[in-house]
Amino acid sequence: HVFVAGSANLDFVARAPHVPAPGETVLGRGLELHPGGKGANQALACARAGGASTHMLVALGDDAFGATLESSLRDADVQLHIVRAAGTATGTAFICVSDEAENAITVAPGANDTLAPHHLPPLGAATHLLLQLETPLESVEAYARAARDAGVRVVLNAAPARRLPASLLSRVDLLVVNEGELAMLAGTDDIAQGLERAGVNDVVVTLGARGCIARSGDATHLQPAFRVKAVDTTAAGDTFCGALVARLSAGDALDVALRYACAASALACTRAGAQSSVPTRDEVVALLAA
Ligand code: ADP
Repeated sequence: HVFVAGSANLDFVARAPHVPAPGETVLGRGLELHPGGKGANQALACARAGGASTHMLVALGDDAFGATLESSLRDADVQLHIVRAAGTATGTAFICVSDEAENAITVAPGANDTLAPHHLPPLGAATHLLLQLETPLESVEAYARAARDAGVRVVLNAAPARRLPASLLSRVDLLVVNEGELAMLAGTDDIAQGLERAGVNDVVVTLGARGCIARSGDATHLQPAFRVKAVDTTAAGDTFCGALVARLSAGDALDVALRYACAASALACTRAGAQSSVPTRDEVVALLAA
């Protein structure tokens, strides 16, 4: 199975004519609440891709938001290992989306910041541990070390973008980044140079509507994007990561898993929302066969 350790947030989304400037108040339209957070989105995408069961370590507050996030993951058949952050609120994100599709996001990490190095349970029969950077870096590094020691492959989605210590990168088997994250990590806008300098042997770079490129040892794989009518690219990257690791855990070769992940993330772009936009395995298989 796949083990995911990471964040969960409840997203509060308001649409407005424009994103407010400092000190300004804008009147928005309605309010949408969506389960989100990179860790939870990726766990759900992994579970929907099927082929392997999905476990997740997540920290939630003892509040109604936590209950909402918990049920959305349970409904997707994610096996949860919950750290209860007593007296701390569940993670939230306040998102304003303008009519020009610009956004401004404030995240209050809350319980996600309480995920500590000692919280990772034994990984059991897991083949892969999937990590992101929305929880404390110290814990991400401790989990990567524990997985390495247990013979579990470590996959890091280095998002949100930041520089990372060699002590973490040296314990990563597969790095998944978008172009901005690669540039930040490798200190160059040149993708070929970034792949060289990332400090990880196997690297996948997602390229939005251009698909993705991967380097594994000496081999390079290019996977063009699937042509779809994109309406909302929220969680495209998360869908890609979850689907990719699900297929690798099920035994697919990297190029086969990349093709599946590109198809799954393309379908996620055709629907609004984060977790609600993640396609099922049957939908992805239909696109692959088309
Ligand atoms: P992120 O959302 O993390 O910035 P990307 O924008 O690179 O990541 O998108 C992740 C993946 O989603 C891409 O590799 C691609 O397969 C798919 N994708 C994104 N945008 C589109 C699009 N407009 N059409 C088809 N696929 C897309």
